Amino acid sequence: MSVDLLGFKIDNYSFDEAITKAKSLIDGDRVAQVITINPEMFQAAESDSYFENIIREAEMVIPDGVGVTLGLKLTGKSAERIPGVDFAKRLLQEAALSNIPVAIIGAKEDVITKAVKNLENEISGLNIVYYHNGYFDNNSEIYEDLKKYSPKLILVALGAPKQEKFIYEAKKELNPALMVGIGGSLDVWSGTVKRAPKIFQVLCLEWLYRTIMQPSRFKRIFPAIPLFLIKVLSYKDKI
Ligand code: UDP
Repeated sequence: MSVDLLGFKIDNYSFDEAITKAKSLIDGDRVAQVITINPEMFQAAESDSYFENIIREAEMVIPDGVGVTLGLKLTGKSAERIPGVDFAKRLLQEAALSNIPVAIIGAKEDVITKAVKNLENEISGLNIVYYHNGYFDNNSEIYEDLKKYSPKLILVALGAPKQEKFIYEAKKELNPALMVGIGGSLDVWSGTVKRAPKIFQVLCLEWLYRTIMQPSRFKRIFPAIPLFLIKVLSYKDKI
């Protein structure tokens, strides 16, 4: 169940199907990678063939940004938008129910500490066996820690494409686990950044809200969506 967008395979699961698939990968026999993709990541892949290959090899690629679902619509396809922050939260709830050990890596020290505390208060039975801030120089030290604690669900928030590279390189290092790149989710869970009000979420305008709240993101995010849509349309014309 996948659709093609700019030559990449995007999974078109419903939210619940994506959770079921992710749970089966947690029980798998190797490290599996979930990418929650947005237009900026397509843009980055254009000039970074290593990152492009990582997207192609990922076990799951789900549409996070509204730009991606809009791009699919413009080419006559469809996939349900699965916001990464909601997907990751639901995986944590499922992990708690099944007593699956969890690790979380990323964000500034005070942000991850607060996020872990909030998550443990909110989700009863959540078993976070390891967490670490996202400002480290040596990936191998973190891989060593992860080998020691053997979490089965590992959430990584280093921003894209850094987190995708960290996860990809972990594939040959770690015991079987599901690893998900979660972007700015820890900032939301720590209460540092507010999630857009429901009305913005319903209208698929979370990107607009975030841009208003963090104007520094404007230069990066705002041009990415229209440029991406133009590319999607011209790619379709080429076929
Ligand atoms: N981050 C990190 N290490 C880094 C760079 C970023 O832990 O070397 C964290 C950052 O603190 C934030 C998260 O990654 O919590 C997402 O960063 P950003 O907003 O730049 O990424 P996006 O959400 O746009 O993917």
